[in-house]
Amino acid sequence: MTNLNFEQGPIRPPSEAYSLLLRVTRNCPWNRCEFCQTYKKEKFGLRSVEEVKKDIDVVQEIVSEIKNLSWRYGFGGEITAPLINLILQDPQHFSDGFRSVALWLYEKGRNVFLQDGDNLILKTIHLVEILRYLKETFPSIERITTYARAKTGSRKRVEELQNLFRAGLSRIHIGLETGYDPLLQYIQKGVTAQEHIEAGRRVKESGISLSEYVVLGLGGKGMWREHASETAKVLNQINPDFIRVRTLKVLKTMPLYQKIETKEFVMLSDDEIVEEERLLINDLDGITSIFISDHILNLLEEVEGKFPEEKEKMLKLIDRYLVLPKEEKNNFRLGRRAGLYRSVEDLHQPELRNQVEKLLRQIETKEPGGFERVLSDLMESFI
Ligand code: SF4
Repeated sequence: MTNLNFEQGPIRPPSEAYSLLLRVTRNCPWNRCEFCQTYKKEKFGLRSVEEVKKDIDVVQEIVSEIKNLSWRYGFGGEITAPLINLILQDPQHFSDGFRSVALWLYEKGRNVFLQDGDNLILKTIHLVEILRYLKETFPSIERITTYARAKTGSRKRVEELQNLFRAGLSRIHIGLETGYDPLLQYIQKGVTAQEHIEAGRRVKESGISLSEYVVLGLGGKGMWREHASETAKVLNQINPDFIRVRTLKVLKTMPLYQKIETKEFVMLSDDEIVEEERLLINDLDGITSIFISDHILNLLEEVEGKFPEEKEKMLKLIDRYLVLPKEEKNNFRLGRRAGLYRSVEDLHQPELRNQVEKLLRQIETKEPGGFERVLSDLMESFI
């Protein structure tokens, strides 16, 4: 039994699933984006360097404790799967922090994600001190990443970002969302396309790897074309290391929901979102970014690749879906949202297809005409 624990925030990017989550600020200093609910009821706060260092010390104590447990349970000090399972399956004895360190160690203790929403807001010298302390305490760390707002990034000097890079900050995840100024205003992102470009370029110049997130479907029926093509223009000027897409799903707790209720904002259908994604990829030009679709809400997970060489492949994957007859599209949409299909190719797997067809029959029997509602609920369950 142990009381060892440390503070962790609510979210991380999908690519940081096995990273140690270390909270260096609390919540989001902006907190106004209309499509975001993560920190809406929470107040922003900085954490002091001393506070964060204490958490790093606790992580170190947990690491020692886990190694002791390994000896005690007969695993010879090794971090084995049975040991991790013992810890993960016992939340009564092991805190959230303890269990997350166990999982982190099992994944070799290589990556750390600094939470929460905008850590560049810390004074550079403070963030440098945290990064150095973290690396000194855990020399096994290879990658340290964080979220940041472009507005904040556009105010950091390249030299400051270089200091962060030298201290160990490997990657910054920025929510670009869109490169279309009227839409940035509409969703209250609090940043302009030009500031996105400025921040992105500075991060790249500093040597820190850059990941830009785009929200598919964010333009709605009114602005989808501009959303796709203007976002591509901004990304073409930044040339980030990674472009990651996630699909819009609006929950009742998000401010944007009110605009949907009054029909001011009209959501795109799945097919229209795929068309929008096609336009985005088509207009991306002169970049060497890696395009990643690692969010569970995305319909076409397989549309991934490196620019420029895999651009045509990605467009073909999109077209393969778009030319399907309506029934096949619906079969795929349900299979994907139910977690059965991972690719359009899976439509040809008889076992998976049978399961999806069974689900379709169940929906028709229990709730005739309820297909779209079921899909929407399935998507909601992933958020
Ligand atoms: S800046 Fe990020 S965390 Fe903050 S409200 Fe906007 S989307 Fe949410």
